[in-house]
Amino acid sequence: MENFEGFGMSDELKMIQATIRKFMQEEVLPNEIGLEHDSTEFPEDIQQEISKKARDAGLWCLGAPEEYGGGGLNEFGFCVVTEEMAQCRAGLYHPGYDVFGRYPPNIIYAGNEEQLQKYAVTTIRDGLKTFFAVTEPSGGSDPARAIQTKGRRDGDNWVLNGSKIFCTGAGEAEWGVVFVRTNPDKGRQGISCFIIEKNTPGFTPHVFEVMRSTTAYEIAIEDCVVPQSQMLGKEGEGLDLTLRLLTKNRFHYSAANIGVCVAALSQAAEHVKQRETFGKLLSERQAIQWMLADSEVEVRAARWLTWEGCWKHDRGEDYRIEASICKLYSGDVLWNVIDRCVQMFGGYGLAKEYPFERWLREARFRRIGEGPSEVHRMVISRGLIKGYIN
Ligand SMILES: Cc1cc2nc3c(=O)[nH]c(=O)nc-3n(C[C@H](O)[C@H](O)[C@H](O)COP(=O)(O)OP(=O)(O)OC[C@H]3O[C@@H](n4cnc5c(N)ncnc54)[C@H](O)[C@@H]3O)c2cc1C
Repeated sequence: MENFEGFGMSDELKMIQATIRKFMQEEVLPNEIGLEHDSTEFPEDIQQEISKKARDAGLWCLGAPEEYGGGGLNEFGFCVVTEEMAQCRAGLYHPGYDVFGRYPPNIIYAGNEEQLQKYAVTTIRDGLKTFFAVTEPSGGSDPARAIQTKGRRDGDNWVLNGSKIFCTGAGEAEWGVVFVRTNPDKGRQGISCFIIEKNTPGFTPHVFEVMRSTTAYEIAIEDCVVPQSQMLGKEGEGLDLTLRLLTKNRFHYSAANIGVCVAALSQAAEHVKQRETFGKLLSERQAIQWMLADSEVEVRAARWLTWEGCWKHDRGEDYRIEASICKLYSGDVLWNVIDRCVQMFGGYGLAKEYPFERWLREARFRRIGEGPSEVHRMVISRGLIKGYIN
């Protein structure tokens, strides 16, 4: 039998990981001090300055395809770097406060060359903000049935009417993608995807307050005229395309969950070494040690589930069930770990000067966004019942 050296990272990936870890320590974390508690980016001049350093260091958009200006890392590499970048207060939704670049919605890669150049390349190059609008007031877990926003063909244009809800960043974005029912008789195959640019008449986002830090919007879509050239993929393909491309997002989504757990646990370990109650350090109490130990075990399990899925993806194997497994499990681990850290910090765990209170709010949503936990359980059990898992 061949000598198996074990799964692991290439020397190149280890070097990139170490470079990002150092960059986070030297550039990102010092600038985080003094930021408003729920900030998602630095003040403009600092954002520009650190982003330039990240570009110069070759750390820009590492997970985007090389041909469109990204670093071309595979999914495993992207997860390794995301875990590092997520180790800051904004880490769950804005790893590294976005100083390492921003990514367009994945479905853009199903676009034609003109769309790719106009939207993917500029977004990666200039760090543009974008949005993704699938959820409607009628539901988000099952968009194939819930989408009611309609598109009517009018010559070379489409006229869109309806509404969307909970769309992150839609009011600040340069452009985004909107999913619309263009054929009411075809169910899932009757949904198409359109690119909509900001300030398009008939497209009006309004802030919709939620407890998470990033702003969500509801969007009124009223007689919004969009040219046929703004359709992504073929008519009726929109939902299938995006669900296929969305699945792999679950790996770096999970990696961000893991990164925040790592940051939280390291702060908790420092805290319990200094805090004394009843004449003893917290670190000497078994109740505290067990919280740390259970958390570490769960974080490592979540990391390996995520990496296993990435490896399958990168080998070209079917990874859908692994994507659901790591998304489901890492969301639960994040919630458990942050909750335990709050407990170890006592009242300070809920104080705004520490990051736990923010992470706790955001962690609650991690079990709903990108598919609620119940839907992932459904996918996993369906795989088991149909015999896809062995
Ligand atoms: C802060 C925030 C940001 C968001 N950002 C975006 C965005 O950028 N773009 C976008 O399109 N959407 C976004 N969403 C919407 C999000 O994706 C949806 O909230 C999510 O998909 C669930 O849809 P829903 O809220 O309509 O819940 P529903 O679909 O009504 O489901 C409600 C609950 O029912 C349960 N459930 C659902 N299906 C099943 C099942 N088969 N079996 C058992 N239980 C089930 C789950 O517990 C689920 O939480 C965001 C939401 C929030 C709160």
